[in-house]
Amino acid sequence: RAKEKGGSNYQLFNSQMKSASLEKLTLEQELRRALSRSELLLHYQPQMDIETQRIVGFEALVRWKHPERGLVPPGQFIPFAEECGLIVPIGEWVLSEACRQNKEWQDAGYEPPPVSVNLSTRQFLQHNLTGRVAEVLQQTGLAPSQLELEITESCTMEVEYATEQMLELKQLGVKISIDDFGTGYSSLSYLKKFPIDKLKIDQSFVRDIMTDPNDAAIVASIIAMTGHLSLKVIAEGVETEEQLQFLHRNQCDEIQGYYFSPPLSIDKVEQLLKGRLP
Ligand code: C2E
Ligand code: MG
Ligand code: MG
Ligand code: MG
Repeated sequence: RAKEKGGSNYQLFNSQMKSASLEKLTLEQELRRALSRSELLLHYQPQMDIETQRIVGFEALVRWKHPERGLVPPGQFIPFAEECGLIVPIGEWVLSEACRQNKEWQDAGYEPPPVSVNLSTRQFLQHNLTGRVAEVLQQTGLAPSQLELEITESCTMEVEYATEQMLELKQLGVKISIDDFGTGYSSLSYLKKFPIDKLKIDQSFVRDIMTDPNDAAIVASIIAMTGHLSLKVIAEGVETEEQLQFLHRNQCDEIQGYYFSPPLSIDKVEQLLKGRLP
């Protein structure tokens, strides 16, 4: 038993291991197993309307319940999954689980807000993406208006293709937001071209708004710009009352961050939803 434990798993997560390719092969096998044995699960982070202080959304964030390592955060396996292509089946599982769960909460009378699902670039570039999303909505019975897809700026490099892909998704009735906004290299001119609903200001800009005048200026400018373009804007990584006040003064629409709530397990989401009902 002890020998088993000290075996592949020790090597798998030892970054100093000599054979990086073996490490990757093992991680890939482990991830495949995670998918087939349902070791993945979702936590949900509430998004709050700054004005009304109401919950207006939940972002689905994947975790890996590893048999030996406990709950593994996405930063430790999503980048690798993107590299080896497993992000596509993982992303499909996330999408369908998030939709299924939201519909279940609706059916239970919890009146859940819409759910946001992160799409990786590989998923976004798939030619049958809209068909897959439509299928999941159909299978789970979730209304398209209850689903928001988060894409990153790197999805938008091929402007024509990205525009078409987004138009198709919009026709389906789902919402689209740009995640980690400000960290990519895309031109601002696409913002008026793309049929997007919301910008999510990356937490790296929000973190220091109270101490770094440059970050404060960037965040205020992004918010002002979204106002002119009639886009919604949400600030990520809000941790303090001061940050919240700054964002409120600058007319940011929504916040997401530890100040309001960390990502929550299913149980905690259900408590929150129940407590919200009249
Ligand atoms: P993201 O989509 O930008 O998600 C926000 C991340 O910021 C989450 O980390 C969340 O826990 C964290 N966060 C939220 N509020 C605060 C705060 O106030 N302070 C700080 N320091 N952090 C905060 P998490 O869950 O570890 O996810 C990390 C990233 O992994 C996500 O960033 C997203 O890029 C990726 N990811 C997560 N789930 C999925 C998924 O299902 N599919 C794909 N493709 N990527 C995912
Ligand atoms: Mg996100
Ligand atoms: Mg983000
Ligand atoms: Mg991020």
